[in-house]
Amino acid sequence: MVVIGGENMLDVVIANGILVDPEKLVRYPANIGIVDGKIATITQNNLHGVQEFDASGRIVCPGFIDIHGHVDLDEYCGELSLRQGITTTVGGNCGASPLDIDAFFTLQEKNGFIINQAEFIGHSIHLRNSVGAIDPLKPATPEQLSRMEYLVEKGFEDGACGLSLGLGYAPGSSNEEVLRLSRIAARYGRIVAVDTRMLTGTDMYSLVEAISIARQTGARIQISHLVYQYGTGVVDEALAVINRARSDGMDIRFDSGMYTPWATHIGAALFNEDYMETNGWDLKDILVVTGQYNGKRLNQEIYRELRDSAPHTAVVVFTGIEEEIYLALNHPFAMPSTDTGAYAPGEGHPQIAGSFPRYFKKMVTERYQLNLMEAVRKATLLPAETLGLDCKGRLREGMDADVVVFDIHTIADKADFGLPDAPPVGIDYVFVNGRLAIDRGNLVDTHAGKAVRCIKPMYDYQI
Ligand SMILES: [Zn+2]
Repeated sequence: MVVIGGENMLDVVIANGILVDPEKLVRYPANIGIVDGKIATITQNNLHGVQEFDASGRIVCPGFIDIHGHVDLDEYCGELSLRQGITTTVGGNCGASPLDIDAFFTLQEKNGFIINQAEFIGHSIHLRNSVGAIDPLKPATPEQLSRMEYLVEKGFEDGACGLSLGLGYAPGSSNEEVLRLSRIAARYGRIVAVDTRMLTGTDMYSLVEAISIARQTGARIQISHLVYQYGTGVVDEALAVINRARSDGMDIRFDSGMYTPWATHIGAALFNEDYMETNGWDLKDILVVTGQYNGKRLNQEIYRELRDSAPHTAVVVFTGIEEEIYLALNHPFAMPSTDTGAYAPGEGHPQIAGSFPRYFKKMVTERYQLNLMEAVRKATLLPAETLGLDCKGRLREGMDADVVVFDIHTIADKADFGLPDAPPVGIDYVFVNGRLAIDRGNLVDTHAGKAVRCIKPMYDYQI
C-alpha cells in the first residue's frame, strides 16, 4: 500500500468487491483505496479509510461514461444519469451545444455539478443560428462558414471534446460546411459525432456521407445512436458499411441506446411533412412526452398546434426492431449511450433513467450477448479512449476515482413510458471523484462532478 501524508489512512475504502478491469478484461477480488479523488491503491491486503464501504458480492468498476447525452448542466437530468451509474456525461450532441464552451465549463468549475461533464461543440442549431444561418434548409454562406470555423476552433481551444453534427436538424448544410468544420476537428485530434440525416428509414446514403467525412478530412467519426438511425431492419447493413470503412483504415465507431423509440422536439425539420412521408412515420406512431399533451399520440390537430405554437415540445417516434438494439451493441466499437435530455419530473423518454442498468441486464444477464468484462469495457474504457480521457474509464492507481458498485444479478431499469424517470435498482454506490454521490439509492452529494476540458491533441494529425 502507498503511504499517504505519513499515514496509512485513506479517504475512502471500497472493500471485498469483485473488480472489473476493462483494460485487462479481467475480474478479481480486491480492495480499493482512494485519496484526494484518485485511486491510490488496489490490493488484496486489508485497508482502512475514513469512510469504508463493503462491496461483498458486488461488481466494482469504473463509473460509466455516457458518450451521447444532452445533460448540459441540467440538474435533474444529471441526477437521473448519476442514478444509472454514469459518472461522466458528454453533452452538446446532435449538433446542439452551448455556443460558449468556456462559459459552460467555467460555470461548472465555479458552481460544481452532480457529475463530470465533457462537451461537444455542436454545429447544427445554436452555432448556425449565431452566425445568421437560421434556415435549416439552406447552406451557410461563405462568410457565415468562416465565422463558424472561428467559433469551432475557439470551442476546441476551450476544451470541447469534439464536434457534433445534427444533419437531420439542418438538412440544408452543405458538404463544404460539414467538411471544413470537420477538418478543424481532425487537426485537433477530436472526434466528430454525426447524427446522420434521416432520409428514408432504410437508406445507407446518410451513413456513407458520414464516413466520407472521415475519408476526406481524416477526422475520426462517431455515429450517433446507431439504432435510432438504422434500427429499422438495416443495422446489419450499417454495420457492414462501418466495418468496410474500418478495414480501409478509417476510425469509425458509434454509440447506441437500449430502446428503439427515439425522442426529439416536434419543431425539428425532421417533422416537416415531406420528411415524415419519406421516413414513413404516421402521426399515430408519435407520442407527446412533455407539456399539455403529455401521454397523447399525435393527430393532425395536435401536430399543427404544437408545430405552430409549442415547437419545443418533446415527442417520441415509435419505430424500429428490438433485436437490432442488441445486434448493434455487440459490435466491438459500439458504446452504450442514453441520448438523455432535460425534462421536468415525470416527463420524457425512459432512456433518461434506465439506459445503463438496462444495458447490463439485457446484454449480460438476460441474453448473454456480452460477457461482463466486455460490457464494462464498452461503457467505460472505450468512450474514455474515444475522447482521449486518459484518467477515466480505468481501474488503476492514479486514475480518477469514479467508481460504481453494483449487483450484476439484480441491476435493472424501472423506467418506462409513463414513468420515464423511475430510478433503477441494483446499484449500491456511485463515487464521483472519490466522493460518495449515491448511497443505496439515496443522493448524498450533488457537487462532486468536475468539468472535463479536453486540451491536449489525442492523436497525431496525419492527413
Ligand atoms: Zn442526441
